[in-house]
Amino acid sequence: MALLWLDDVRAADLETVGGKGASLGELTSAGLPVPPGFVVTAGTYRDFIEKSGIDEDLFAAMDIDSEDSKALAGAQERAHELIMGTPMPEEVRAEILEAYRTVGTDGEQAFVAVRSSATAEDLPDASFAGQQETFLNVREKDLLERVKECWASLFSQRAIYYRNQKGFPHHEVDIAVVVQQMVDAEKSGVMFTSHPSTGEPRVIIEAAWGLGEAVVSGAVSPDNYVVDRKTGDVADVTIADKKVMHVKDEATGETVEVEVPEEKREQRVLSDEEIAALVTLGEEVEDHYETPQDVEWAIVDGEIYMLQSRPITTISDSGAEESSGEAIANGGAESAQSSGDVLLRGLGASPGIVSGSVRIVTKLDQLDKVVEGDIIVTEMTMPDMVPAMKRAAGIVTDEGGMTSHAAIVSRELGVPAVVGCGSATRELTDDQVITIDGDKGTIREGRETKDVEEREPVEDVRPKTPVKPMTATEVKVNVSIPEAAERAAATGADGVGLLRIEHMVLSLGMTPEKYIKEHGERAYVDEIVEGVRTVAEEFYPRPVRVRTLDAPTDEFRQLPGGEDEPNEHNPMLGYRGIRRSLDKPDVFKHELRAFRRLFEMGYDNVEMMFPLINDAEEVYQVKNLMRETGINPDKHDWGVMVETPASALGIRSLAEAGIDFASFGTNDLTQYTLAVDRNNENVADRFDELHPAVLELIGSTIETCRELGVKTSICGQAGSKSKMVQFLVDEGVTSISANIDAVRDVQHEVKRVEQKLILDSVR
Ligand code: PEP
Ligand code: MG
Repeated sequence: MALLWLDDVRAADLETVGGKGASLGELTSAGLPVPPGFVVTAGTYRDFIEKSGIDEDLFAAMDIDSEDSKALAGAQERAHELIMGTPMPEEVRAEILEAYRTVGTDGEQAFVAVRSSATAEDLPDASFAGQQETFLNVREKDLLERVKECWASLFSQRAIYYRNQKGFPHHEVDIAVVVQQMVDAEKSGVMFTSHPSTGEPRVIIEAAWGLGEAVVSGAVSPDNYVVDRKTGDVADVTIADKKVMHVKDEATGETVEVEVPEEKREQRVLSDEEIAALVTLGEEVEDHYETPQDVEWAIVDGEIYMLQSRPITTISDSGAEESSGEAIANGGAESAQSSGDVLLRGLGASPGIVSGSVRIVTKLDQLDKVVEGDIIVTEMTMPDMVPAMKRAAGIVTDEGGMTSHAAIVSRELGVPAVVGCGSATRELTDDQVITIDGDKGTIREGRETKDVEEREPVEDVRPKTPVKPMTATEVKVNVSIPEAAERAAATGADGVGLLRIEHMVLSLGMTPEKYIKEHGERAYVDEIVEGVRTVAEEFYPRPVRVRTLDAPTDEFRQLPGGEDEPNEHNPMLGYRGIRRSLDKPDVFKHELRAFRRLFEMGYDNVEMMFPLINDAEEVYQVKNLMRETGINPDKHDWGVMVETPASALGIRSLAEAGIDFASFGTNDLTQYTLAVDRNNENVADRFDELHPAVLELIGSTIETCRELGVKTSICGQAGSKSKMVQFLVDEGVTSISANIDAVRDVQHEVKRVEQKLILDSVR
């Protein structure tokens, strides 16, 4: 048997069906209505490589120096060639196709999702699991190839790198593939099985016409139903005016937005019977997992389907997760007993207090010496350092501000960090034991906290209590490295407000131009697709705003290929963002091609965002390049960053150029309004995102955008600050995107301000 039906799968079948398969099977076998499907088992993949005899070549190809990026790319390519070039055995093909026809009711036209499900769940690096392929809206003609693509994705560069790094044998990892019916919903929505703020036994259901994306993405205001679980009574019903709905375009399989027919706009979506059925389902899911759940559901032909269920989230109360500016509960007490002298001060960039041995890192080839629990001390972190940063207990840098690479990445990894200390690499020595405080920005002599070995691993810090407040203003999260996607999604954020592509691109270890020269255009596009997909998949169908390349030339200059970069006096005012992209359309178009591929793969939750825009002329040029790449700007959501006073003052003409949204990049907007270099420690005390001039620009931009129906957002660092949140909600911003560690506080702050606005209006 090449495959197992989800009905026959149990959680214990992990080895045979992988993590995703096991959890869908578990739900199915608990009697929950999961869309039907089957799993092409891990054994089928194993037989495929062994019986065809490609296994020896495959594993031999992995025997490379994984720090050598060329060799890594070569290994991925070889694996892809071997797997895609080897025919699937006839009996396996027949079995998969026969099962496919049973899953779908439309013969070879049925749409299915094809998802990788790796079996190496015990791999030390759990986030690795999310890195294999997924394809949505697949039909019969592409099915077998897609299954093989999933198999081949077990050998992505990143996966090879991690397994080699961790000494995990390649031949011990297998991969299963889930093939599941796509649900073409007539109505859909979300359900909280208990009250999301108080945990009371009240079910809250949001419902709208068509596919669930419209509700989850906030494109439509859904009906809202509140049910008292004790009595079963529907306590409250709010019928919304539902102007649009999302449906699948039968010809292309893409999701499109259409107007709701007049008679259905103000019609109630759910009947009392449907509500009762949903509540029963919610209770079953909650009982099964023993914790309140946030369920995505859909109804087709009177049948309810469960598309996903996850715990209603909030950040745990562990010290490392507290947001900056607040005393850390146990950390504060411990530092009171401390006798260690303050050796150095810098900016507290990622919260948490931690002790460990210093590892001075001056060159990339010394990264191996960083072992679990060490504190990396370096001039400035580089994208290649991410694997070492994940191992480290803490990070200290000489240079950089709150928005530097070190600050952004350590926050996303949940590793405490102090940046911009000036002379840490000179004043500290290898093996010296220090304690860093990522809130206060201090570095002290000696050990003050519990041993780092006892520290809860980052991956284990999972949301525990159900208090995600529901807010009208969306609260999203910023992500810069795909490795942080899972942790970011667990915050319960309404999507990703900023995915910075440059961290992915810089981690290729050379400039894009050099990478393309050495590995080819396809490999470059593949890398972007793979990185973005990891995040888009984790959040699907919540929207993910992906920003095109914006790295200043001084960052590129440090990489191989950087010799060709201009040597600029002031890189912050130089050749970066959309200016560089429009000047090098050939390189820029690869990023657009990556978007196109993602759209074709079904990731309709991906939105495009363009950095450092000054005027509408640039927007028209970008639109032309989109069209030249085969992207129809009218069919996708895209927008610009508002990062210069010029873009804020010219917002009306940008709106006329067709943007769907404008997102405030306050890191740059502040630096350009106040003439304060954001990365210069000497003027860090003058960097004030709440300066009246900055607020004036933001306020007037929101006002104009509201008038013109353009959505507004913030994705700069200031979106994590409560004063800025208050200002923005008051002004009527559409969404706020915060750092992972700040999402929960921002959700609460937004709710507080919204409630005050409502109270003020009725008083
Ligand atoms: C900003 O400028 O606020 C922003 C979010 O972009 P970056 O920090 O990447 O320049
Ligand atoms: Mg910026």
